[in-house]
Amino acid sequence: MANGFDVAREGDLAVITVRLPGKVNKINAEFGIGLAAAFAETSGATGVLLLSGHKDFCVGADLDMIYGVTDPAVILDLVRDVDALFRRMETSGIPVACVLAGSALGGGFELALACHYRVVVEDPRVSLGLPEVNLGVIPGAGGTQRLPRLIGIQPALDLLLQAKLVRGNKAVAAGLAHAAAPTVEAAVALAKGWLAETRPKSSGARQPWDRPDFTWPGVAPTSADARNTFMAASAMVYKKTAGVFPAAEALLAVVQEGSRLTFDGAVDVEARAFARLATSGQAKDMMRIFWYHRTAAEKHEGLPAAPRETGIRKVAILGAGMMGAGLAGICAQAGYEVVLRDIAQPALDAGMAHVVKGIGERLKHKSADERAVVVARVRASLAGAELAGADLADTDLVIEAVFENVELKHRIIREVEAQLGPSAIFASNTSALPITLLAEASVRRKNFVGLHFFSPVEQMPLLEIIRGEHTDEATVARCLGFCRSIQKLPIVVNDGYGFFTTRVFSAYILEGAQCVAEGYDPVLVDWAARVAGMVVPPLQVFDEVTLRLGDHALSQAEAFRPGVAGLAGAKLVKQLVGAGRVGRAHGAGFYDYKEGRREGIWSGLAAFCAPRVGGDPVAQVRCLSERLLLAQVAETLRAVVEGVVTRPQDADVGAVFGIGFAPNTGGPLSYVDRRGPEVVYERLKALAQQHGERFLPAVGWSPARLCYDIDPRQS
Ligand code: NAD
Repeated sequence: MANGFDVAREGDLAVITVRLPGKVNKINAEFGIGLAAAFAETSGATGVLLLSGHKDFCVGADLDMIYGVTDPAVILDLVRDVDALFRRMETSGIPVACVLAGSALGGGFELALACHYRVVVEDPRVSLGLPEVNLGVIPGAGGTQRLPRLIGIQPALDLLLQAKLVRGNKAVAAGLAHAAAPTVEAAVALAKGWLAETRPKSSGARQPWDRPDFTWPGVAPTSADARNTFMAASAMVYKKTAGVFPAAEALLAVVQEGSRLTFDGAVDVEARAFARLATSGQAKDMMRIFWYHRTAAEKHEGLPAAPRETGIRKVAILGAGMMGAGLAGICAQAGYEVVLRDIAQPALDAGMAHVVKGIGERLKHKSADERAVVVARVRASLAGAELAGADLADTDLVIEAVFENVELKHRIIREVEAQLGPSAIFASNTSALPITLLAEASVRRKNFVGLHFFSPVEQMPLLEIIRGEHTDEATVARCLGFCRSIQKLPIVVNDGYGFFTTRVFSAYILEGAQCVAEGYDPVLVDWAARVAGMVVPPLQVFDEVTLRLGDHALSQAEAFRPGVAGLAGAKLVKQLVGAGRVGRAHGAGFYDYKEGRREGIWSGLAAFCAPRVGGDPVAQVRCLSERLLLAQVAETLRAVVEGVVTRPQDADVGAVFGIGFAPNTGGPLSYVDRRGPEVVYERLKALAQQHGERFLPAVGWSPARLCYDIDPRQS
């Protein structure tokens, strides 16, 4: 018996329990050999039941194996072996059932799809699906062919292209499982019952696509409806990816081409596309950021160890605006007692309404009573009102989210700190002001820290924890414990204006404004950002954060970065604010808005800019794309050299998860390594000559070495 595969006989039935060494089952070369050997041991059985000995059924392909391979032929051999094994399993005539008591993802779900019968445990914690496209690849073990034949082309494309996972309690309705049961025991009994009823070589022991009477669920691939479906999906993919995520395009092509071929031919088309994608630089970069770095950040690898007991029970949020109200909601949901304080009653009312609405939406699966318990954890407190001071008694953590103004923040720090106990932490959610500067108003500077959240707080995964000059490690460690409790992804950075993320983000949106001020067509500027892979284009996002805030931040930044307010882009922003084009919330920015919906670029914009740059728009987009990325790369490299970020993965995690830096590149430093540090160095120098010093490569950065000197698999 192969290691990790236990084969038991129960009368005519063979039960294979997969429990690979380690915590999870994942598909690697040994998995295929082990499963094949286990099946060989089932000979004579009239049915096979596949179970997992771990919590999850199978979490998919072993990325450690795929990440290191650069030769498509090697991958092709691997997947062809798995394909052949799955095919033998489903065509042997012996019925195979599986029980999905835990998640089955990627290759793990493909294994389940190759079984004739799937029983799932009706548990929302069980996830089923094929999310490969998120890692720059496609399913490689028949998933792109079995799924459409099982549930139809359109529903399969919906799941595959959006990497959607289906919960255990919804799996039967979605057509991914044949039956569901409330417990593992009941699920096993159902599967055994089905196996007892299903004779070898009967129709039940054949996959639908191997039966002579097979017809496609939904539309047939050769129909006009299917053509329309593929055409619409292709347009949707292009709109979403701007043509820079080849995996999504390949997925669509493989489903379309495969749907017209024999099953074996179709699986081979998939295998070849998979081998090509899995060995591409983009897939490696996406695996690095979305798997290795993300997992390491989730586990707080290399960060100060959070104490088992953070001593944080009660959290006070100062400022019930956009950030404060969102923070109050997530803290209450994590079980904290929360005081939400504002100086203005209307703001407080709006903040509380936001808390109630948010909790209602996020906990809609809970009962009204359970939601009420969470809402009741938040107490509104009007600053300045009689007895309001008492609300802050016993507060363990204060997060201030009042207006971005040093004097105001200093005043609040003095007022509130006076009411806190000695171990309480005071945190600022400032977007850019140096923590050490804010801490000047504090008498307990070692307990003073930056906790930079992103908007919308409920959705954005990142928390940037900023060490001020005097912040002690115990405070950082307790904040990491708090971060874990509210389920955010942490990076810990050192202080400086804009710390890490705001610096890079500002460089991005300012460069967008700069290009427009120079006379580039604003439509091309925003499109160029998409073509670079950026999640949100600079002018659109400038309107979101408001030009007024941008203008205010640029004036503040001048003290720390002399010359920045004099750039044509900064001047353009000031002029637009002067003309009442303040941002989306006010219905007017770079874009026009009608009833909150973005219309087109404002027709009056050109009057504030240099004459329109002529020439080939395709070439312009290429230049602008590179420029928008390199503006951020240059800023990232400065932050690295200055010691704001001390590990390359923090820079990439911060940029991708905090500000939507092009995920296809794996982050700004991953981009440098992929393109080659020497090449980036030369390009930065050339752009600096053309556009200004902000592009100059950081003094002290050595392009002779890669940014990453470790393999993420070893970290
Ligand atoms: P906001 O304008 O929506 O809310 C600020 C709130 O603070 C207002 O309701 C105001 O009444 C209240 N306030 C003012 N003085 C107060 C006082 N003395 N005591 C109590 N409350 C007082 O602002 P926001 O967008 O939520 O930003 C708040 C902070 O978070 C700022 O420092 C900002 O830079 C930072 N931040 C904002 C974002 C964002 O995207 N909006 C993202 C990250 C960080």
